[in-house]
Amino acid sequence: MPQYTAYLGRFAPSPTGPLHFGSLVAAVGSWLDARAQGGQWAVRIDDVDRGRVARGACDDILRTLEAFGLDWDGEIAYQSQRDPSYEQALEALRAADRAFPCGCTRREVQASGQAGPLGFIYPGTCREGLPPGREARSWRLRAHSGTIRFRDRARGQQLIHLPDEVGDFIIRRGDGLFAYHLAMVVDDAELGVTDVVRGGDLLPCTAPQIALQQALGAATPRYMHLPVAINDQGRKLSKQTKAVALDRSDPAPALHDALTFLGQHPPTWLRREVPAQVLAWAVDQWQPERLPAAATVPAPVELRSVAD
Ligand SMILES: [Zn+2]
Repeated sequence: MPQYTAYLGRFAPSPTGPLHFGSLVAAVGSWLDARAQGGQWAVRIDDVDRGRVARGACDDILRTLEAFGLDWDGEIAYQSQRDPSYEQALEALRAADRAFPCGCTRREVQASGQAGPLGFIYPGTCREGLPPGREARSWRLRAHSGTIRFRDRARGQQLIHLPDEVGDFIIRRGDGLFAYHLAMVVDDAELGVTDVVRGGDLLPCTAPQIALQQALGAATPRYMHLPVAINDQGRKLSKQTKAVALDRSDPAPALHDALTFLGQHPPTWLRREVPAQVLAWAVDQWQPERLPAAATVPAPVELRSVAD
């Protein structure tokens, strides 16, 4: 394992809409963990999936981070501008025979594959070559047998057998866009991210991402997955579940709520302070071991969702 000499964390929102309480929790958790260790914190816009980008969302997200006092280091990176790096990674995987072309449609994979935590498990149809008469649509990573192991700082030891639980997963999609896992791994490696602190809904993505790091000869960062903020229906806060956008004009109460959510027990008087004060207290008091053990935690009622 590589030895880390410094801490570099990051927050990587997808610009599908304004930040809500769920994304604030991820940003605050990762920012605090970095700052409490004297580390750096980068922001990257995960807009590799161009079709999901909402107009103006990127600017809105950055303004919100500023208003909440979550300052970042270095330039903001945009995945939509990084295709040459992803292309290079795909080339390296092809050269090492770790990537293969697949001619299957989504419907075909659904029809013959089993459901897994990240969608249908690829049945291996094109693994040994495209069937006669089929054309390549996407590219997949050839998942090696053997168990992926990692220790999550909040969730403990994780063991995943990739072929059975995920299968050969897509790294370049049928529409030509690079897949989320590939983009994320290439970006984190190029930036030198040492610590990934993010929402627990992304825990199942970790094993395929580690498989890609290993295939590309990149270092594996440390991971810590935070509890997921849910609404009344037990669903993750998101644009789809109509999560309330954060109020930039009054950040302290939502910051206080995020710290409470993360198990940090902030005193009530912090709700009336400026963001810099709230965060200064939180950096000083940050104890990841206080994170709730539960995978999901209800968000504060007023920050869950707006009515139709
Ligand atoms: Zn196939």
